[in-house]
Amino acid sequence: MIKTPILIVGAGPTGLMLSAQLHRYGAPHVIVDRKAGITEASKALAVQARTLEQYRQLGIADTAIENGFMARSARFIINGRIRANAPLGEIGQGLSPYPYLFILEQSRNEALLLDHISSCGGQVQWSTEVAELQDHSDGYAGVLKHHDGTSVPFQCQYLIGCGGASSPVRHFLNMPFPGATNEQSFFVADINLDSELEKHGLLLVINQSEFFAFFPMAGRNHYRAVGVLPPAIADGEDFPFAVLKSHIEDNLGFPAEITDHSWHSSYRVHHRIADSFCAGDAFLVGDAAHIHSPAGGQGMNTGLGDAVNLGWKLAAVVNGWTGPAILRSYNEERRPFGVRLVHTTDRAFSVMVSKSAVARFARTRILPYWLSTVLRFNKLRRLLFKTISQTVIDYRRSPLSDGSGSRAVRSGDRFPWFEWEGGNSFEWLANVGYVVLRFDSNEVVEIPDWNGPVTEIDVPEPAAAAAAKAGLSARGIVTVRPDMHVAHVSPG
Ligand SMILES: Cc1cc2nc3c(=O)[nH]c(=O)nc-3n(C[C@H](O)[C@H](O)[C@H](O)COP(=O)(O)OP(=O)(O)OC[C@H]3O[C@@H](n4cnc5c(N)ncnc54)[C@H](O)[C@@H]3O)c2cc1C
Repeated sequence: MIKTPILIVGAGPTGLMLSAQLHRYGAPHVIVDRKAGITEASKALAVQARTLEQYRQLGIADTAIENGFMARSARFIINGRIRANAPLGEIGQGLSPYPYLFILEQSRNEALLLDHISSCGGQVQWSTEVAELQDHSDGYAGVLKHHDGTSVPFQCQYLIGCGGASSPVRHFLNMPFPGATNEQSFFVADINLDSELEKHGLLLVINQSEFFAFFPMAGRNHYRAVGVLPPAIADGEDFPFAVLKSHIEDNLGFPAEITDHSWHSSYRVHHRIADSFCAGDAFLVGDAAHIHSPAGGQGMNTGLGDAVNLGWKLAAVVNGWTGPAILRSYNEERRPFGVRLVHTTDRAFSVMVSKSAVARFARTRILPYWLSTVLRFNKLRRLLFKTISQTVIDYRRSPLSDGSGSRAVRSGDRFPWFEWEGGNSFEWLANVGYVVLRFDSNEVVEIPDWNGPVTEIDVPEPAAAAAAKAGLSARGIVTVRPDMHVAHVSPG
């Protein structure tokens, strides 16, 4: 019999991040996955700045950076000609230590997290499925079935669904997952594309009938291609790559040849969000809670953000640092963002793939020029960066936020990034637990309902001057949550 306070079902990026967070706070748990190891069908490529900031807190951002690269531009090729070239690069200068769109395949993100878990002494139970789930008054019970035919019963207090779109936990608890599935089927293929175009960043190929996106991958002329499946193979899971190859080459509108391919698949795009991300002591995280189109490269990043949000709260409860009431704030903080994301990506995706004349006009005549114009203006560029990078996510309406602070920095906001000679604001957030930052203040601070670790820091000059520029007051106290969001701002 396995008895554990926390059972994580699913070790995709979300489950792995949750396990990494629980290790950070020293909370015992078990994580299982029915696959034999990390994913081979690498889907996500875009890693947003907020994810890199969360990796940094775990101490793995530098390794991530070594293994990926920055997207430098987005080029729009419309009816065979380059019509717009939007420079991306470091568009969020000063807003994050990672002011760009970063490319690192999902499989490499998973490997990074798995290595980190191993370095903390943890492991994933691969080739293991959850079966015969039962809801008990004091938690959950069931059986873990290993693929070698053996099985073992388990009991847990908290059951965490990280099983992706078909989450067994969500099904077991009958948690509604309303939404829709897009009529069209899509393809994804990792290819080598030989053409006269220099490989530089994202390539968006749009013509009257087709839309293809090419995302740069490591290696010369290596891209991930995504588009609508041609009607001839629309319903096929297994289809020969040759059909796709000629479909892409024939519809590009410029001379190019696919010289190699390593992987291809078809998929359907869903837009769904769970009515609630929790039921009793069970929680849904990542694609188990929300799925949407890949437009904007947000899915994996959002799952990782969910895991960071739930991780410290679960650990705090299991470690006796706070009461279980804090766990309700997970749904209240993460679901509103999920709702927004599902709606916006749904709209963006419709514009990109719809056959209607209005959508065609929008994607060939408006979008490329709009993006190039937006990127020319500093304010708009920063707004675009904040939105896509997920650094704009705040929890101002959370029950954990008390409304304190100013317009610039309020309770619930992500703690701002700023630098001064010899230091930066994220160094303060490397310790486990709450952080109390004193700006010329001796005020006694109490963190409500918390007896876990707290680090107190007296902020010296020139850090205080840099903080003031970032919108913090020169006198007073700022309390920061373990997940790098502001808990309380005291005016001093
Ligand atoms: C073409 C494409 C491109 C994408 N591009 C991006 C991008 O650029 N950026 C981005 O952020 N997102 C992107 N996404 C989305 C991203 O891939 C997903 O959001 C992400 O994989 C979700 O992670 P997850 O851990 O929640 O779920 P999953 O990755 O689905 O992992 C779920 C895990 O649970 C396991 N599991 C399932 N059932 C059981 C069971 N009964 N018992 C045990 N284990 C179980 C599975 O084996 C799996 O390992 C893209 C998706 C697609 C399809």
